[in-house]
Amino acid sequence: MKTLSAVLGMTAVAAISLCSLPAGAQTYPERTITMVVPFSAGGPTDTVARLVAESMSKDLGQQIVVENVGGAGGTLGAGRVAQADPDGYTILLHHIGMATSATLYRKLAYDTLGAFEYVGLVTDVPMTIVARKDLEATDLKGLVEYVKANKDTVTVANAGIGAASHLCGMMFMSAIETPLTTVPYKGTGPAMTDLLGGQVDIMCDQTTNTTKQIQGGTIKAYAVTSPERLAVLPDVPTAVEGGLDGFQVGIWHGVYAPKGTPTEVTERLSKSLQAALQDQNVVARFAELGTVPSPADDATPAALKAKLEGEIARWKPVIEAAGQYAD
Ligand code: ASP
Repeated sequence: MKTLSAVLGMTAVAAISLCSLPAGAQTYPERTITMVVPFSAGGPTDTVARLVAESMSKDLGQQIVVENVGGAGGTLGAGRVAQADPDGYTILLHHIGMATSATLYRKLAYDTLGAFEYVGLVTDVPMTIVARKDLEATDLKGLVEYVKANKDTVTVANAGIGAASHLCGMMFMSAIETPLTTVPYKGTGPAMTDLLGGQVDIMCDQTTNTTKQIQGGTIKAYAVTSPERLAVLPDVPTAVEGGLDGFQVGIWHGVYAPKGTPTEVTERLSKSLQAALQDQNVVARFAELGTVPSPADDATPAALKAKLEGEIARWKPVIEAAGQYAD
């Protein structure tokens, strides 16, 4: 049995540690949280964010509203969160572009490794190489031949320099040694609308945006960028199977908060993210869209920090070798 003085001592320690928390951290969250998605509504990042935000809202007991701040390959939305109050009420869900833009942009309005706190990884989504429905090629080899034969007119949609679609499009052009005209959008939601309408020819985008359209036959799919075929798209070969050696890329997503957000808050958000990623509705919806949630160990601040640092280092030499930058 504990003595009264021991209990009082413990209470005093608890009181001191509570007092040392920044105001509000112990009662967080007390109001609506804004999750910035740095791309348009209706696209793949937005889809992932809305599923996760809805589930996290239940866990946190406060609503998370998604705000789309598209433009400049995701750097406008990231910049917006970098400058927000570090109180946990403005957070960011971004993808691999957080790492590639650190090298691709000569000038960024924020210091990628210095401007954020980390909440955790969310998911790693395969890409798909797709085209407007009436493009004549029937397989990846045929697509490459078509593109090479029509290189002056073929257009490739993307979500701006630094976006996943930009990265994948560049990989495609480099693999087939054929530069093409790119058409930037604020996100691949609107890019998909134009692909459906036949205003652009091809795109490489996350399965979270393309799976339903491929299944519905409204666009043509030529390849997935995962090491294996996907259960939801069993007839779509991998890019490697289709003849593009080494063409594999996964688009990892993470949740961030502005630098200075109290650790107690990022830890609370991380716990909530872990709960969301185990939510059976989220798991099922992700599966329908060709992806899986990150494991709980990865939905942590430390794992996302390590991922971002590693990915900046990984892509830096690749981007420098390509020698193409955005101002
Ligand atoms: N898929 C887009 C990209 O290329 C982003 C988006 O619209 O969610 O990065």
